[in-house]
Amino acid sequence: MPELKKDLYDVTIMGSGPAGLTAALYTARADLEPVLFEGPQPGGQLTITTDVENYPGFPEGIMGPELMDRMRAQASRFGMENHISFIEDVDTSSRPFTITLDDGTTFQSHTLIVASGASARLLGLESEERLMGHGVSTCATCDGFFFRDDELVIVGGGDSAMEEATFLTKFASKVTVIHRRDELRASAIMAQRAFDNPKVEFLWDSELVEILGTKEDGVHGVKVINNNTEEVNELACQGVFVAIGHIPNTSIFEGKIDMNEDGYIITEADSSHTSVDGIFAVGDVQDYTYRQAVTAAGTGCMGALDAERYLERLHLGE
Ligand code: NAP
Repeated sequence: MPELKKDLYDVTIMGSGPAGLTAALYTARADLEPVLFEGPQPGGQLTITTDVENYPGFPEGIMGPELMDRMRAQASRFGMENHISFIEDVDTSSRPFTITLDDGTTFQSHTLIVASGASARLLGLESEERLMGHGVSTCATCDGFFFRDDELVIVGGGDSAMEEATFLTKFASKVTVIHRRDELRASAIMAQRAFDNPKVEFLWDSELVEILGTKEDGVHGVKVINNNTEEVNELACQGVFVAIGHIPNTSIFEGKIDMNEDGYIITEADSSHTSVDGIFAVGDVQDYTYRQAVTAAGTGCMGALDAERYLERLHLGE
């Protein structure tokens, strides 16, 4: 059970990726003594990526987990209160908001900055669920090491799939990218890296229908359907990496905060304000367009400044 320092906070932050930690840094420096709950994936998605080459200020690049450790240390230096637990419910009907954590602890907060990010999208196959962690993974950085000299499959045609395919060739003898269309969604530079890698092969217009294997012995192949011919073939492999995008982590706000049809929280133009006064949304939980660490950090700053201005009005009794 987390030892909370207060019963009532000015600022509560949900999530510990670049958006949440930047919001914490700014609100801590404004003496608002924020409390941050890290959530199920401390540090967010950057902790499961390798080299980050596009975060300004790091000309040689920086490893994702190290970047997040540095952001956490920077916010902590100014007094962020940090807990590993996660927020399970927010009562938006009363003020201050009543917030419930995963262990049942409740407390109150005048504002909430939602920075809960997004989670890996899955194919929805029974065999995918059964073999997750037994040869099926959504994180090449975390699990690639276990597949030395193996043949692997990656599903997806975006930047994640290209990045992971390239990364996995450090370990694997061969990586087959299976994509449902005949054209990639990935950026030209990421696609070219994968095309240039002699260990990466592409299987176009194809989708997985089943992953073959057992929990005991792991994966030994996949059944793949060709979307043009509807022919089903088997491909031998010892691991499957699913890299087909992400879903925003907003389920606890269903019916409470306005969202779009894909579950992303809607914010007012040029601000982090949501449909609930006092609740602000920042980072990937509200951004389906840019989804970059630097844009997440930028919106985290916006959330902090918006919360600060809201609190000024609240404490002045306006
Ligand atoms: P994404 O761009 O949304 O791509 C998802 C891919 O998965 C698409 O090719 C999509 O196919 C496919 N897909 C989706 N659902 C599927 C299903 N049910 N079955 C089979 N295939 C399915 O996601 P992402 O690659 O994770 O990238 C997300 C964002 O992060 C992008 O903005 C990207 O640029 C960024 N990113 C950047 C870097 C980097 O710069 N280092 C690395 C990773 C990601 P269709 O193409 O047919 O829709």
